[in-house]
Amino acid sequence: ITFADLNLCAPVLRAIADAGYTSPTPIQAQAIPYVLRGGDLLAGAQTGTGKTAGFTLPILHRLSEKPLAHAVKGKPRCLILSPTRELAAQIGESVTTYGKYLPLKSMVVFGGVGINPQINRLSKPLDILVATPGRLLDLVQQKALDLSAIEILVLDEADRMLDMGFIHDIKKVLAMLPKKRQNLLFSATFSDDIKRLADNLLNSPDLVEV
Ligand code: AMP
Repeated sequence: ITFADLNLCAPVLRAIADAGYTSPTPIQAQAIPYVLRGGDLLAGAQTGTGKTAGFTLPILHRLSEKPLAHAVKGKPRCLILSPTRELAAQIGESVTTYGKYLPLKSMVVFGGVGINPQINRLSKPLDILVATPGRLLDLVQQKALDLSAIEILVLDEADRMLDMGFIHDIKKVLAMLPKKRQNLLFSATFSDDIKRLADNLLNSPDLVEV
């Protein structure tokens, strides 16, 4: 199986070729068709499996399929939540790399650094936001960010987010999102807490495990 077999659009395929990837990893081969179809996904995958491209590539494809005339300031269409700033930064780099031939704008926000530069950047058009939960809520509270246009939500390393005590923040974020949206939950492990979160969040999800 090749990336072209997965029906990803030409700009995404070009970026993949530039990255030197020749074939999809197992998680990518399984997850990408589901995500392209628009359904919810529950994926069990560790770091190192290629999971980031597994959600980033089809998200870029989907957002470019139904392009808005232009991105809207402070109103992203896709939200990717990450437990740590390191992971958020890595995901942001992946979005930039794989999306380099698409006219989509992305941004990464996390705590521990000044909030004002982030508020300034949010006053420019934005399609994809990668965020840690605490800083995301701070930005919403400051009215720099509006989550009412989110079409796709990703919870990456959801087990680590729960371990780090983010469940209340996650619930607050979920309450701000439109009801009709696509949800992707990635977790390395499946505790009862993760299963409960998945039950609450996902609508008849497809399951992928590697
Ligand atoms: P991840 O599990 O998302 O952290 O990805 C692990 C590493 O695999 C990253 O450095 C990616 O650049 C790389 N990678 C992802 N997909 C592929 C692929 N299909 N072929 C080769 N390398 C890949």
